[in-house]
Amino acid sequence: MIRKLSTEQQAKMDDIRANYEEITRKIADAAQKTGRCPEDIHFLAATKTVEPEFINYAISLGLKEIGENRVQELLSKYDEYDLSKADLQFIGHLQTNKVRQIIGKVSMIQSVDSLKLAQEISRQSQKNGLTTDVLIEVNIGREENKSGVLSEHLEELTAQISLLDNIKVRGLMSVPPICDSEKEISKFFDDMYKLFVDISTKKSDNICMDILSMGMSDDYERAILSGANMVRIGSRLFGARIYR
Ligand SMILES: *Cc1c(COP(=O)(O)O)cnc(C)c1O
Repeated sequence: MIRKLSTEQQAKMDDIRANYEEITRKIADAAQKTGRCPEDIHFLAATKTVEPEFINYAISLGLKEIGENRVQELLSKYDEYDLSKADLQFIGHLQTNKVRQIIGKVSMIQSVDSLKLAQEISRQSQKNGLTTDVLIEVNIGREENKSGVLSEHLEELTAQISLLDNIKVRGLMSVPPICDSEKEISKFFDDMYKLFVDISTKKSDNICMDILSMGMSDDYERAILSGANMVRIGSRLFGARIYR
């Protein structure tokens, strides 16, 4: 289908292009400050509420990873994503009874925080003859209403999940509390990095962690300086979210 873009759509795409260039430049700078290459950092776009045409435009600019938060939204947009050059992941809270609907559609689930959820991912992956990569979500700020495992239970949960078939723990993910200062947020990022290093250097079969996913629009550079190698960016790329 070829259709002419409205001026409004064209303006939005121009913004996305400028934002994409700025973010990739800042990611590269932060990576270099920590002795890493720009390619060492995964730039995942958080695409909740964003229409597929804009997501696909970002993919055409070079974006390689996108992440959705809600199963229903992911399914409704699924046929429209251009996944020939990009990878679709799940980054939101996932209910066990919805796992079945996304297995085989996503390359990674970033929000595993219980054995029960991991067991269902394992079961559904087995059924479909594939292996699903996961990150374990850590509630680093110990917030009451937030998902994620508490740090003192991380090692045990990781060990348990690593024994399951058709599921592979690739690393850790976190959404730290909203902070007033850079100092405050840095503390959470540094704590995550410590957990990541601790657990990835433990000699344990089946565990080979290589991804630390943390940092969003307002703090992704800070997260990279603390050791993140995946950032998840929404509004800074696509503009403020409009919930319908
Ligand atoms: C929405 C979302 C993001 C991106 O948030 P922004 O502040 O818009 O960059 C990152 N991670 C998760 C899990 C999200 O839900």
